[in-house]
Amino acid sequence: MNDFIQSAEALQEELVTCRRHLHQAPEIGLELPNTTAFVIEKLKAYGYAPTRCGGGVVATCGKGVSGKTFMLRADMDALPIQEESGEPFSATNGNMHACGHDFHTTMLLGCAKLLKQNESAIEGTVKLMFQPGEEVALGAKTMIEAGVLKNPDVDAAMMIHVLTGAPGVANGDVVVMAEGAASSNTDAFRINVKGKGGHGATPHETVDPINVMAHVHTALQVINAREVNAAELFTMTIGEIRAGSANNVIPDTGYMRGTIRSFGKPTRAFVKERLAEISESVAKTFRAEAEVVYEFEVPSVINEGSVRRESLAAMQSLFGDTIKDASTYAGGMFARITGSEDFGYVSEEVPSLMVGLVTGIPADGHRYPMHHPKATFDERVLWKGAAVYAHTAMTWLKNNQ
Ligand SMILES: [Zn+2]
Ligand SMILES: [Zn+2]
Repeated sequence: MNDFIQSAEALQEELVTCRRHLHQAPEIGLELPNTTAFVIEKLKAYGYAPTRCGGGVVATCGKGVSGKTFMLRADMDALPIQEESGEPFSATNGNMHACGHDFHTTMLLGCAKLLKQNESAIEGTVKLMFQPGEEVALGAKTMIEAGVLKNPDVDAAMMIHVLTGAPGVANGDVVVMAEGAASSNTDAFRINVKGKGGHGATPHETVDPINVMAHVHTALQVINAREVNAAELFTMTIGEIRAGSANNVIPDTGYMRGTIRSFGKPTRAFVKERLAEISESVAKTFRAEAEVVYEFEVPSVINEGSVRRESLAAMQSLFGDTIKDASTYAGGMFARITGSEDFGYVSEEVPSLMVGLVTGIPADGHRYPMHHPKATFDERVLWKGAAVYAHTAMTWLKNNQ
């Protein structure tokens, strides 16, 4: 297997060039014309016949139609952030690969090349899923609706997310998140409040939505403070409140936007029920109306037991003790993440696995977390990500013929 590591390491220079190209030209959302064109061009050069699917790109590799199919996923989209990383290859178009999806795309391209070099040893099919729109929580869903899990049908799937800026970890470590819910259910909501506007001098003739929202905001805190068991991982954030545009006018309406992050279906359902009850009844108390609508509802990534166990063993056979079980690694910091990951939609359909790859630590100057305009990532582990992807897929297929 050392040959496998050697051929992955041999890709490093090409992967750095590829990553910097993507990093300098970040695109956001569901349509990534330049990024997808680049991925298609690379895959074709490696001998693939890629197809477009739901805004993303799909390609397969393997001996033939027999056997099972293991899918590897990379997301390709960036964030609408003005980059301040100071890197010589910084983006200047107002978007930034601050979540490391340029790494994911590059590592899966490297994996594609490795798989082609070893195609005769693939006992089944490896499907490569390059998806758009993870940051808007729609890309995976769109690709599933467009058939990414069909033809050939996917039997199991895996994704890697890079991790940077965290203290107490070692660069290049691979962190296999806990069995069960590995990321949170993330529900983004908006509470629309309807009052009755009027003159600031005659508030008795109005129903003030700003007053209502202040009370709703306070009342919602009780869900976390008194209603959900403290042992549950749960958090709710109101990140935006808007109403009015003058100091002497009471507006007709206002709205609040926020996110609920929860683990497990019962907590998720309970919180959503209470959010509606509290918002509507507090508004009613003040003679106003409130309505809760959801902007997106992303399910947890569920790490399935057997895929997780087998992949952990496969990765450890190649990379030894740099492969970490997240339940005990770094105080369990990465066992379950309260971030959202729309690969959750894939894990609802097929047995799945999410793992992290440490790509930058504070001791080496990578001090900022993902989504920060100053975030930087350590390119030295690009080849390792490619190798982990390819080796995990090939081993799973061999063990599950
Ligand atoms: Zn992100
Ligand atoms: Zn991300």
